[in-house]
Amino acid sequence: MRLREIYEDKKTGAFPKISFEVFPPKGGEEHYPALYEELNILKKYNPALVSLTWGAGGKNNNSMELVRALRQDLKLDVMAHFTCICNSREMVEKHIKEIESFGIENVLALRGDEPQDIDVCHTDFRYANELVEFIKSKTDLSVGVAGYPEGHIEAESLDADIENLKRKLNSGGEAVFTQLFFDNDKFFSYVELVRKKGIEVPVIPGIMPIISYKQVEKMTSVAKISVPEMLRENLEKYKDNPDDMKKFGIDYATSQCEELIKSGVCGLHFYTLNKSYSTSKILDNILTAV
Ligand code: FAD
Repeated sequence: MRLREIYEDKKTGAFPKISFEVFPPKGGEEHYPALYEELNILKKYNPALVSLTWGAGGKNNNSMELVRALRQDLKLDVMAHFTCICNSREMVEKHIKEIESFGIENVLALRGDEPQDIDVCHTDFRYANELVEFIKSKTDLSVGVAGYPEGHIEAESLDADIENLKRKLNSGGEAVFTQLFFDNDKFFSYVELVRKKGIEVPVIPGIMPIISYKQVEKMTSVAKISVPEMLRENLEKYKDNPDDMKKFGIDYATSQCEELIKSGVCGLHFYTLNKSYSTSKILDNILTAV
């Protein structure tokens, strides 16, 4: 199903559509079976989409085999990510055609981030809107784009960032998948702002279960993500206790999801970090509560 159809499909009831984000395992192909195992566990939640990231800097160009396997062997509805950075027109065209031939209908078009360790980088596309336009001109793929509830880290203001979001949607983007956030109010006010600007496409909140102190530190150092006081206190409290941190992370994300569902979101996009455990627990919690 294409993005619009997924998020506007009311047949399956009011429960938001679930999607899982995974990345190509760092160790390469020999680690794919471990990822398949985790995805086979998550499959029982009937994901509308499994989205597979694309490493900037051409680091995982061989992930096309993974894209194929997720679609054709695991029978998942895949949304493949693509980045502008270090991707030439020729490379993108070759890959998107391949993706279509696998029976995939959706892609997420991103700019990506400049790699630190590569000298030559193609610069055919500068911003994601150019990539969206290119993909739409060459294929019939349905294209999603990224949104930032607290603004993209390089944007001069949230307003300017939403103007950019509009550019991506005007180029053919059909749904917005957000950066993770820990403060639901940031998401709610973002959606309000976005709607005020006349954007009507689905906006799908990104949820990342907290599994460690380091993970939160890393994320908040590279992106604009607020950490509410209560969360900060608990991160300190469980800093040296991985099991309790994981349990806390599950409870925290469960509360976030419950509030988001109550507000009527059409989807929940889980940043799984290639692990099923926390995401499954959160989904078990919210499904029993429904
Ligand atoms: P853009 O929309 O191009 O925006 C980048 C910056 O430029 C913003 O500050 C924007 O406001 C500004 N801007 C845009 N257009 C203009 C313009 N015309 N003039 C001036 N300023 C402009 N990264 C990966 O490498 N691989 C992945 O698979 C991946 N998956 C992601 C999935 C999601 C759901 C999200 C939220 C992010 C993901 N990222 C991924 C990270 C993403 O690539 C970075 O956040 C990147 O810095 C911005 O990408 P973008 O597509 O939002 O860029």
